[in-house]
Amino acid sequence: MRMSRWSYRADRAVFPMLLAAAGSVSLWHASMRQSEEWPAWVLAGLATWTLLEYLLHRWVLHRVPPFKRLHAEHHEHPFELIGTPTWLSAPLFVLAWLTLTQALARPAAGGAAAGLMAGYLAYSLLHDAAHHRRAAPGGWLARVKRRHARHHQPGANGDFGVSTAFWDRVFGTATTVGRDDRRAGR
Ligand SMILES: [Zn+2]
Ligand SMILES: [Zn+2]
Repeated sequence: MRMSRWSYRADRAVFPMLLAAAGSVSLWHASMRQSEEWPAWVLAGLATWTLLEYLLHRWVLHRVPPFKRLHAEHHEHPFELIGTPTWLSAPLFVLAWLTLTQALARPAAGGAAAGLMAGYLAYSLLHDAAHHRRAAPGGWLARVKRRHARHHQPGANGDFGVSTAFWDRVFGTATTVGRDDRRAGR
């Protein structure tokens, strides 16, 4: 979806607030043991986000209307401010948090939700950087940019992960990589 500069950047204001809310609400009444387990739930949420990012990009953004059409616009105009608006993504993460509280104790649910939100925020910033920031040659961001540029090549059907290439390797959608990438553990 085409957006103004402000709404394109709204993720970076709204998601830190949601993260702070998930953190403080979930830890407020946590026992000592729940507090100790909390970081593990955050990590589980983060790891889950990387899989969700891959699946949503590959199966929803590339196949399901109307997301397919909106995402195709981003592929055609990679330098324009096109993305998922915060008014759509933020309520979905709040809904995920509420759903998790039905299945898990409040601290665990809040930790997992904070991990999911942190993962999404990192993805959002990284995808923005992949298109709009310069990267030092040979650095990590340069590799992210190269991988994502391969995804944007016309007719490409791979490299769906932005935050990590892990799931592309698991599902066999990592495209041929150069020696540079391989050596760097892409
Ligand atoms: Zn895509
Ligand atoms: Zn892109």
